[in-house]
Amino acid sequence: MSTLLEETKLIMNKFHIKANKSLGQNFLICEEVVQAIIESSKIQKEDLVIEIGPGLGTLTKYLLEKAGKVICIELDKKMVNLLESRFLNNENFVILNQDVLKVDLRSIIQKETTPIKNVKVVANLPYYITTPIIMKLLEDELPLESITVMIQKEVANRLLAIPGQRETGAITYSVYYYAQSEGVLEVPNHSFIPEPEVTSKVIKLNIRKKPPVEIEKKEMMFQIIKCAFMQRRKTLLNALANTNMFSNKNEGIEILKNLNIDINIRPEKLKLEDYANLTKLIMKKRNLK
Ligand code: SAM
Repeated sequence: MSTLLEETKLIMNKFHIKANKSLGQNFLICEEVVQAIIESSKIQKEDLVIEIGPGLGTLTKYLLEKAGKVICIELDKKMVNLLESRFLNNENFVILNQDVLKVDLRSIIQKETTPIKNVKVVANLPYYITTPIIMKLLEDELPLESITVMIQKEVANRLLAIPGQRETGAITYSVYYYAQSEGVLEVPNHSFIPEPEVTSKVIKLNIRKKPPVEIEKKEMMFQIIKCAFMQRRKTLLNALANTNMFSNKNEGIEILKNLNIDINIRPEKLKLEDYANLTKLIMKKRNLK
């Protein structure tokens, strides 16, 4: 039996913990995976780390050794009690018993009084809310340097895809707008107890200082991208005409020709820059600024 598995079982027994499936509780028991997450997040003493869903504290233990401060956000009160007891003597440990989707992360970061160079998110995320968590972290435009997370492999591949690849989806463009993503490690399901039904992947999102395209109304661009991918098998022209982004097909043909975009193109073949130009032209046609 590996030491981390032994340690995990001991903690679970001591605190009478049973994994709560509805909270996405799959606890890491593989030392190599823990080390890969810690190393790829490149934490330094001047960093504030926000850990989402610390669970039994497997990652937290290492984060506390490396970071200036670790703020954990955990929904399960049982875990909170356990962690308070486990890290009682760690002065750089803070735990908030809250739902990460409801918590005001910006004010938590702003209120921090210890001197901080960078803010980094590190987590083995609860899989039932992977996408909303990542989108919240990105869209709130928090002052983050990076987000290193373990998520389902399928979602990871969408976030890591580049336009044109089979895995490209609307979310690929949103993530690309905010961050440069890199794959760190594929993780088999026997690296957790209980085992999740899917394979996992650790990815790192390095937050961009400046977006790769200039666009005033980015919300409109993301809305157009969403509509383009609503009917995946359709061409971009048909998808946008069917969702009223183009007033009608003829207008769509005119706009696409104007931008030198093939009228039979599929939505995943466009670059983010193409969507930005498409958005600007649609807005101009509608006299929107
Ligand atoms: N970090 C631990 C590990 O790697 O072994 C546990 C990871 S487990 C996959 C996900 C954790 O997220 C659980 O501890 C669960 O209770 C917590 N969680 C679930 N939903 C949450 C939410 N909405 N806000 C904060 N934490 C949540």
